Parts: sequence; C-alpha cells; structure tokens
Amino acid sequence: VIITQGKYLASAVKPEQYPELQRKEVVFIGRSNVGKSSLINSLTRVRNLARVSSQPGKTQTINFYEIGAKIQDVPERQDFYLVDLPGYGYAKTGAERRKIWSRFINEYLLTSPNIQFVCQLIDIRHEPMASDVEMFKWLVENNLPVLVIATKADKVSKNAAAKSIAAIKRKLGVQEMDVLPYSSVKNQGRDELLEVIAGCLTD
Ligand code: GDP
Repeated sequence: VIITQGKYLASAVKPEQYPELQRKEVVFIGRSNVGKSSLINSLTRVRNLARVSSQPGKTQTINFYEIGAKIQDVPERQDFYLVDLPGYGYAKTGAERRKIWSRFINEYLLTSPNIQFVCQLIDIRHEPMASDVEMFKWLVENNLPVLVIATKADKVSKNAAAKSIAAIKRKLGVQEMDVLPYSSVKNQGRDELLEVIAGCLTD
C-alpha cells in the first residue's frame, strides 16, 4: 500500500464526535512515551502528523487521521482512518482521570464497527509492564485483533532485539504470535506494517 496523504480529521471523547463518514480503522495504542507519535509520523511520512510531545500523557482524546491509500493494481482508493488513542499507564495520570480515560476508550474499542486491528506498541528495551499485559489481555478477551509492535528497535543490537521479542511474547503468554520490531528513526518495520494494513484494506 502506498500512503498518498495523511491529515488530522477529528478528536473525540464520545461517539457523537467520531467521524460521520465510516471508513476502516487501524488503531494505535501504547504507554506514554513508547514512540507512538514517531511511529505514526514515520508510517505516514507526514512530519508532525501526530505530535511528538514533550509532555507525556497529555493527549486525552481519540484522534482520527484520514489516510489516503493506494494499492498497486487496485483502481479504487483505499482510504482509511488511523486512530491514535491516549497513552495508558502514565504514572502521573491520577486514578480519577484514568477512570475517565478507560471509559471512553473502552467505549470506542468495544463499539466501533470499523476497527480492523489494534497495533499495541511496547518499547523493545523494557519488559512489558503490568499495564501492557493488562491491555493486551483485555483486547484479546474482547476479540480485537492485535498486532504487537516493539518500538525503538534501533536502540538495541539485533541480538538484544531478538531476546526482547522473546521476552515480550513470554510475558504476554503468546509464543505463536508475531511481534514486529519497528524503528521510526530507520523506518524499519514500515513495509511490513504497510503490508498488514494492505491486507485488511483489500479484504
Ligand atoms: P509517544 O508519547 O508514544 O507519542 O512517544 P514519542 O513518539 O513522542 O517518542 C518518545 C521519545 O522516544 C521521543 O524522544 C522520540 O524521539 C523517541 N523515539 C520514538 N521512536 C523512536 C525510535 O524508533 N528510535 C529512537 N531512537 N527513538 C525514538
């Protein structure tokens, strides 16, 4: 799939604010500072599409980006929405705010009929934390297809990356599943992720 454009469309904290026009949705989720904004910018090749923020945990809305997509030899455009969810597990987010957070995120994840799959980002340098494991299990329990992406892959050696990925799988309790290493700095993993996206857009 070739990304032809990416632009911010809308922010939502309730269903009335979701885009009126229905399109397939690819969702991104992860702890604050995991590298989600960087990955979105690298994937779409739109600089600053998602802000690489210096204040982790600040964005508390569901952000919809309209992505123009073209698949080779398919005449129709395959435009979709990239959906950026607020970072979870940020220590300074108070319990009360966390409650509000989970309510509207859960509502979105459980009710949107357009979700194709959820990319859950985990930092390749750290073992998944309790909040990562909790989120992963919750997504699986609710029948949402999950692609786990190990971010900042350029920060570790190839050897360490392979070990980390094995540790991530062990911690999540899924040996069979593919975990995709990604580096936004080197655009490593970009083609693979685009291929997964292409697969769901042509379904
Ligand atoms: P977000 O809070 O999940 O959106 O994370 P950001 O995209 O803002 O990234 C957090 C920090 O990690 C920033 O300082 C980024 O420059 C850095 N970062 C993100 N992705 C990568 C990557 O693939 N490689 C390296 N070396 N640094 C990264």
